[in-house]
Amino acid sequence: MKTAIINIGTIVSGDWRAPFVPGDAILMSGGLLEKVGSVDKADLEACDLVIDAKGVTAVPGFIDSHVHIAFGDYSPRLTAVGFLKDYMFGGTTTAISACEVHVPGRPSDVEGVKALAVAAKKCWDNERPGGMRVHAGNVILEPGLTDADFQELAAKGIWLAKAGFGSVTSPFDYVPLIAAAKRAGMITNVHTGGASLSLANSIYGKHLVAMQADVAFHVNGGPIAMPDEDFELVLKETKSALQIVQAGNIRTALKTLNMVVTNDCFDRFLIGTDTPTGIGVMPEGMIKSITEMSCLSDHPAEWMIAAATGNVAEVYRLNSGFLRPGRDADLLLIDAAFGAPNKTALASIKAGDVTAGVACFTAGIPRYIGRSRCTPPPMRIPEVVKNLRPQTFDPPALLN
Ligand SMILES: [Zn+2]
Repeated sequence: MKTAIINIGTIVSGDWRAPFVPGDAILMSGGLLEKVGSVDKADLEACDLVIDAKGVTAVPGFIDSHVHIAFGDYSPRLTAVGFLKDYMFGGTTTAISACEVHVPGRPSDVEGVKALAVAAKKCWDNERPGGMRVHAGNVILEPGLTDADFQELAAKGIWLAKAGFGSVTSPFDYVPLIAAAKRAGMITNVHTGGASLSLANSIYGKHLVAMQADVAFHVNGGPIAMPDEDFELVLKETKSALQIVQAGNIRTALKTLNMVVTNDCFDRFLIGTDTPTGIGVMPEGMIKSITEMSCLSDHPAEWMIAAATGNVAEVYRLNSGFLRPGRDADLLLIDAAFGAPNKTALASIKAGDVTAGVACFTAGIPRYIGRSRCTPPPMRIPEVVKNLRPQTFDPPALLN
C-alpha cells in the first residue's frame, strides 16, 4: 500500500536536536516512510491513498515504554478489555511491556518466568490490537536464572529483562542478574522508587548505581519516588535512561527533566505511562505527560514529543520513533482541540492543553482518519482526496 499525506502544517521529526523537517508532505510505502518533506506528482499518481492534512501537525507515533501487558487486549489488574485499541486512539503506536507481572498466577520459578516471557513474546508477535505494535516477553528477573538461561532466552528472541518483582531479599541481588541479562544482549529495566507490588522492591540511588540497568523505570516514582537527593547520584553515576511516567510523581518528573537539560543528556529522558495500574487506564497518558512536561517547564513541546518517540526508539533499538525515510511508517496527525485558544498542536501543548488526534498510521496503514474517539474534537479534520481501496478509514465510533 502506497499512501501520501499532503498539506501538513508542521512535521515534527522525533529528533530533539533537529526537531522539525522542512516541507509539507510524507510518502509511505511497504510499511516504511519513503519520503518526508516533499512528494512529487508521480508519487501522488502511484498512491492508493492520498490525504489532505488541512494544515495539521505530523508527529511520530508515541512509543510507550511502560505498559502493563498481559495476554491479549485485556488488563487482568484493571479488568479492562480493549484498552490497547484505545491507547492507539490516544496516539500510542508502540507499547513495550513492563513485564507480564499482572498475568494471574504468574510464576516465580526459573522455568516459569522463562516460559512466561517466551509465551508472551510469541503471542504478541502475532497480535496488533488496533494496529499497535506490542513488544512483550520482558523476562522477570528471579534468583536462580543463570547465564545459560539468558542465552537460551535470547536465542528464542527475548530481548527485554525486568528487575523489581523477583523474590530477592535485597535489591543488590539483582546486580548479577542484570549483568547476565546484559551479557545475553538484553535491554535491562529496573523498578525505581518505593515498593509497589513486591514489598522487597524499594529501589533507590545506591541500588541503581550498583545495577547499571539500561533503563531506570519510572524514575519519578511508580507511584512513589525515591528521595530527592538520589536523583543527581543516578544521573551522574549511571548511564541509565531515565523514564518518567504519567502514573508517578509530577514534581520529580519535572526535576528529572530540568536535570537532564542542565547536564546536557536529554537523550536519556523517556516519557511513558506505567498504566494500566491503580492510577487507571489512560489512553491519553502519553500526550498528557508530553503536555505537562512542556507547559510546566521552559523547554519546547517538540522536545517532549522526542522524549516519547525518538529517544525511546534509540534506547530500545526500534526502527520507529522518527519521521525519516527508511523508518517504520508509524505516525500521527494531531491538531489543536476545537475551541482551544491556541491554533496549532504545538502551541496548545505548550499552553497545557492536550491535542486532538485526527489520524493514526502504523506500518503505513491508516488505523483511522478523522476524529479520534479518545481525544477532544480537532480544529481541522483531514480529508481523503484519493482512495483506491474499498474501505473507508472512519473511526469506528465517536464517544466523546
Ligand atoms: Zn509499572
